[in-house]
Amino acid sequence: MSQGSTTVTEDNKPVTKLVDRFGRQVTYVRLSVTDRCDLRCVYCMSEDMKFVPREQLLTLEEMSRIGTAFVDLGVNKIRISGGEPLTRRNILSVFETLGKLDGLTDLTLTTNATLLEKYAQPLRDAGVTRINISLDTIQPERFTKITRIGKLEKTMAGIDKALEVGFDNIKINTVVMKNFNHDEIIDLVEFIRDRGMDISFIEEMPLGDMGDHDRALSYCSSDDILSELREKYNLVGTDESTGGPAKYFRFIDSNGDRESESRIGFISPHSHNFCDTCNRVRVTAEGMLLLCLGQEHSMDLRQIVRAHPTDDEALRNALIESMQIKPKGHDFNLNEQPIIMRHMSATGG
Ligand code: SAM
Ligand code: SF4
Repeated sequence: MSQGSTTVTEDNKPVTKLVDRFGRQVTYVRLSVTDRCDLRCVYCMSEDMKFVPREQLLTLEEMSRIGTAFVDLGVNKIRISGGEPLTRRNILSVFETLGKLDGLTDLTLTTNATLLEKYAQPLRDAGVTRINISLDTIQPERFTKITRIGKLEKTMAGIDKALEVGFDNIKINTVVMKNFNHDEIIDLVEFIRDRGMDISFIEEMPLGDMGDHDRALSYCSSDDILSELREKYNLVGTDESTGGPAKYFRFIDSNGDRESESRIGFISPHSHNFCDTCNRVRVTAEGMLLLCLGQEHSMDLRQIVRAHPTDDEALRNALIESMQIKPKGHDFNLNEQPIIMRHMSATGG
């Protein structure tokens, strides 16, 4: 039930114990389970990344404990991300634990799909409801250029398997960059429509130093992409939400009827700031709770779980307290050096 921007239960109480100073309720957590990846996308990682030493990472048990504490407090959606989550050894155990939690209605994953051919069925069996797959191009050579080392056919095999297994929703995430893949947006839209998937076009965010990749030059606004798509498709905005910041559009035919099940979304941190309705926090693979993607406000959960190995009350209290330091919003500016030196892969995008 919704009241303004606040979700309440029948007796008018917030659905979660996690409410910040601005009255925003946190119901969505992104857990990064590794900072490592088998690709090196130009907008996400530099070529010579330094990764966190393994002993500093949360164990899988600690991740499951933290996820469970969040759900105990009212979080109903958890997205597992990274780095590439499926490269973490024995990662299925985290999905299996979280997938059994009663209060969790949405267990989702963001992946580059290189290992999805093997994992799609076990993930579905563990209770994963929806999958976001990153795909910036459907041209093999370009794919290798953007990911620096990837092979398109592996990701395509993963997408095919996910479609065969059948999740509630499969969404393609595309970071649109001038001079890289901007000329492919129609091809990507045809690709998802043929397969009944959704797509989100994402504006590149200034996270981490990218070496010689100049973000101001590659920047492409969501409004420009939408105008280009509208030359070919009749698109109508919807109020539908998947609990994230994307704004969605549907394809409509000349009678005003829905022409396809697919939707196009836009994630626009630059052109449309979405901080007012922010409902999420992130946990890095080292156990740092990040209260905002674009700010440094954080709390060390690894220290708390290790100081209280059997007492989840201490962990839950810390999570409630952390709401006092959730900042009002981010402050991205593409023309300045990144103020946040963390890469998206370390943050859990
Ligand atoms: N490896 C997985 C994948 O690529 O789907 C999960 C982690 S990745 C960091 C999560 C999402 O962040 C991907 O959709 C990726 O395109 C996006 N991403 C990475 N760096 C970004 C940046 N600088 N700006 C915008 N999106 C970014
Ligand atoms: Fe890896 Fe995902 Fe970052 Fe690409 S976007 S380098 S696949 S973590």
